[in-house]
Amino acid sequence: MRRATGLLALLSLVACAREPARPSVILVSLDTLRADHLGLYGYARDTSPFLDRLGKESLVCEHAYSPCPWTLVAHMTMLTGLYPSQHGVTEEDRALSDEIPLLAERLHAAGYQTIGLYHPVWVNARHGFARGFDVFRSHGEAAEAEQHLQEELDKLDPSRPYFLFIHLFDVHQGPIRDGQHSVYPSPAPYQEFFEPGATAKVALVSWQLDPHDAVQREAVNALYDGGIRYVDAKLEQWFADLERRGLLARTLTVITADHGENLLERGRNGGHGHFWDEGIHVPLIVKHPDGLRAGERVAQNAHLGDIVPTVLEVVGLRADPRLPGLSLLHPLPAERVVIGTREPRAYAILGARKIARGMYGGYLGSDLALDPKEKHGVVLSDGKLFDEWYAQGLDASRVFPPPKKVGALSDEEAEHLRALGYTGELDPPDEEPEASAAPK
Ligand SMILES: [Zn+2]
Repeated sequence: MRRATGLLALLSLVACAREPARPSVILVSLDTLRADHLGLYGYARDTSPFLDRLGKESLVCEHAYSPCPWTLVAHMTMLTGLYPSQHGVTEEDRALSDEIPLLAERLHAAGYQTIGLYHPVWVNARHGFARGFDVFRSHGEAAEAEQHLQEELDKLDPSRPYFLFIHLFDVHQGPIRDGQHSVYPSPAPYQEFFEPGATAKVALVSWQLDPHDAVQREAVNALYDGGIRYVDAKLEQWFADLERRGLLARTLTVITADHGENLLERGRNGGHGHFWDEGIHVPLIVKHPDGLRAGERVAQNAHLGDIVPTVLEVVGLRADPRLPGLSLLHPLPAERVVIGTREPRAYAILGARKIARGMYGGYLGSDLALDPKEKHGVVLSDGKLFDEWYAQGLDASRVFPPPKKVGALSDEEAEHLRALGYTGELDPPDEEPEASAAPK
């Protein structure tokens, strides 16, 4: 009897040894980072030496899109794999349905140690993002995130895979420094890394900037780029630390952004760039643990909803077949439609052709291959073609549980957001209509 038990124990040990441990997963979201300001996406300035190198060892999606240039909505897509109309978290008083699993929950249920380090403006427990994380810690700037990262990595159990989600807000405008809000601040020497004296050339707050002033436009771009260089340097340092700790040996790394940014090219009130290319074209870099598709550039359209199916495939978990995204490990369809929406605005991109529906219901068609910055769009007479493409991109028969209602922010929460320099991400009321006329 004792012998049989011993044999069973031995067999179970052999079985365990044969079952490969699931790879760990790192997902980094660099808030407000437009793809075209990175070296690996063709930018002339040396903003991203680390990401450029990482890109050479990774699969890089050249045309990856955010479904909505708003942190809350885009992150919910990134972490559920659902389009905005499917997850429903499209207003500030909504939280994700308990019946829709987040990526962290899927991984946690599979035995992962889960760590979420986030900037709390929109990515927070209130909207449901904390679910599935063993540790969910908020930070202001990257320096604080770094401290949290080191503390949490020290506690990791090396025998179990981990999921590390890092959301950095340092490329975004703000936060407050020494009582003054400034446009794209970053610590020295990064703020004026690309243009000494740039800070003095711009107004301290973005709504005082003059979009027609070339000096200010240049300076704003230089300050924004300095923030990218800062974040790139931090990531380089953190990934070197992860390597030293032996935590990159069998790890999937995904680096992306929730949306882009308007850098005065469409006027002062351009938000995060709305549904123009600068607002929705985001970086998407996927480094497979075994080097699969390393160095490949994917020309087909991808979107933030592809991240969940990709991660689940790499770690060996089944994705909900109703998810609109596709695993990036396989070739994507050439004529793939990707869509996005923030009612009444919406867009659909089929191959390199794009139709955007504007604030006032007009439709603007662009050819992104010939006109990637959408300077020469054509006003369409109706939305028939848009509706056709949109229906191809979003299967309306796939219905998901509706979001929950959450109450207004408490005074304490609102004060916390104000202290972080946050003044709102919603459209200003005086915004110009743009898709009812050709862009400037
Ligand atoms: Zn954002």
